[in-house]
Amino acid sequence: MKILVLNCGSSSLKYQLIDMETEGVLAKGLCERIGIEGSRLKHQPTGKDDVIFNDYMEDHSVAVKMVLDALTDADHGVVKSMKEINAVGHRVVHGGEYFANSVIITPEVIEAIEKCCELAPLHNPANLIGIHACEKIMPGVPQVAVFDTAFHQTMPERAYLYAIPYEYYEKYKIRRYGFHGTSHRFVSEEAAKMLGRPYEETKTITCHLGNGGSVCAVRNGKSIDTTMGFTPLEGLVMGTRAGDVDAAVITFLMEKENLTPQQMDDILNKHSGVLGISGVSSDFRDIEEASEHGNVRAGMALDVFAYKVAKRIGAYAAAMNGVDAIVFTAGLGENSASTRRLICDYLGFLGVHIDSYNNSLRGKAVEISAPDSRVRVLVIPTNEELVIARDTKELLDK
Ligand code: ADP
Repeated sequence: MKILVLNCGSSSLKYQLIDMETEGVLAKGLCERIGIEGSRLKHQPTGKDDVIFNDYMEDHSVAVKMVLDALTDADHGVVKSMKEINAVGHRVVHGGEYFANSVIITPEVIEAIEKCCELAPLHNPANLIGIHACEKIMPGVPQVAVFDTAFHQTMPERAYLYAIPYEYYEKYKIRRYGFHGTSHRFVSEEAAKMLGRPYEETKTITCHLGNGGSVCAVRNGKSIDTTMGFTPLEGLVMGTRAGDVDAAVITFLMEKENLTPQQMDDILNKHSGVLGISGVSSDFRDIEEASEHGNVRAGMALDVFAYKVAKRIGAYAAAMNGVDAIVFTAGLGENSASTRRLICDYLGFLGVHIDSYNNSLRGKAVEISAPDSRVRVLVIPTNEELVIARDTKELLDK
């Protein structure tokens, strides 16, 4: 069985074609600037040279068509015909309270995803465009939706309710949802395998640290709390997102600087985080370099970032009454030994000890805790596309 995994943004489309016999990636790629001048498709077939197609992509239907053409191309393709693609798995950002699991897409599912657009106005509409594009270009091919929020639907009320008047939860569904669920699920499952323990009996704290970041408490295979909330803005300090701030700061700033809600939203989502503190960049590589060269604000940004992650790990160890493993994943979590070190230096009270050599390794799942560490610390590369493909296969097999 071959499954096409799609992740549609408002003007982009990322894809992977996965062979489920081997779980190997046959090809992957990215369409950028869909509907904008200068659109391009970068296609990377495994074992062949990368190729760039510069044809204009008017909309996502054209993009899906171009992806299928690239996948079946005589020179750059990896399958003979579209018929070899058995199903499409879509990443969908927000499933609200409707979806606690992945589902086969039906008209009812589309209706529910539409209802969640209000909760994720930048993402869900793009995900829907991708779904409709596939319906048009690949009629009859089963499609599955895998939600970023689904894994966190097991959070209890005490973790997901905000202490604002309850009527706003009832009226607008304002509550904490959490994101990166596919990644937290994948790495917590992998962690249990690495520990040689049943997933249903393991307490894990997973740290997905990329441009966006979140920490999740996974107890016995279920998310019981996570740092992102109603939107991906809550929680950790991120590349450009502020994370937790006293809500009073927002009204204060709006009044002082005469800001519209949209301007305030931009400040919190696009100009804050480590970029906001350091003034250098949103990319941790640039900030680490600037800090090494003596930039004080860059050093502060890294410090604030690590301190917040460490505080959440401590909080979740308390919430779960213990922790067996802490997992680092995503761009920064997988690649930055110094950030992992900064965070783990706060965790001596948990009996965490890091092995410097293993902490310096890159590119594969590895245990970085020392043999005497009371809590095991793991680095596990995330693979959201594989989870989407596996869920798609499982639903079709049923
Ligand atoms: P996204 O959230 O966009 O999926 P990623 O998970 O790809 O992001 O993470 C991207 C971030 O990871 C980059 O912004 C960069 O800060 C960080 N990163 C990647 N490689 C390294 C590295 N070697 N050292 C430090 N930071 C890194």
